[in-house]
Amino acid sequence: MPSIKETPQWKQYEWLITKIFHDNNSSLSVKVLHDTNLIGEYSEISRQIDVLIEENNTKTMIECKHYSKPVNIKELESFLSMFTDVQAKFGIFISSSGFTKSVYKRIREFDGRITLEHINWEKAYASFEKKSYGRITDLCDECKDKHIRGKEVPGLLCWEHGLGLEIDGIISMYSIGECLKCANKTVYCDPCGWITNINEESCCTFRDAFLKLYYTT
Ligand SMILES: [Zn+2]
Ligand SMILES: [Zn+2]
Repeated sequence: MPSIKETPQWKQYEWLITKIFHDNNSSLSVKVLHDTNLIGEYSEISRQIDVLIEENNTKTMIECKHYSKPVNIKELESFLSMFTDVQAKFGIFISSSGFTKSVYKRIREFDGRITLEHINWEKAYASFEKKSYGRITDLCDECKDKHIRGKEVPGLLCWEHGLGLEIDGIISMYSIGECLKCANKTVYCDPCGWITNINEESCCTFRDAFLKLYYTT
């Protein structure tokens, strides 16, 4: 039975792509952000970016297109325009149905700075299923019961690892996973070995202290 407020497929496709790039790139010095905004250098207005990879001052802009037809030159031109406006160093244009020939030719001007990736829905979904099932922590507790397996994308967590808290000279480590679907956060507390939803009762007072610090820095 389909749920009442089903998320559009293109949005779910964006989550899958974000999860793939997040897991392949993110670290303490590299941030992978889903659905974010950057002020255009020339337009001076806010531009919406599907996925942004930030490393020091280097920005990689990722745009996802989930169309039934190959992405054409016109769509590429609008990608290029935004790419220039937000001053990204690299750009990755992702399509679930490939690109027309002229798109491949057109990007030659940007020699190595722009790449095209054809990742179809099934391929993207399979990559997450392979990794995630059995590893329950990649799925948001709030959302995981509300999806049809194989057809819908559940709430996927993007983890930030290696966050430390020092109390009385003792360092304890934490991880925070943010759900792409509901934005709810899940915390892994290393001292307890517990995984808790941020709204749930805390596993220990250290977790509370850590979260306080996390939100103020
Ligand atoms: Zn969720
Ligand atoms: Zn704890």
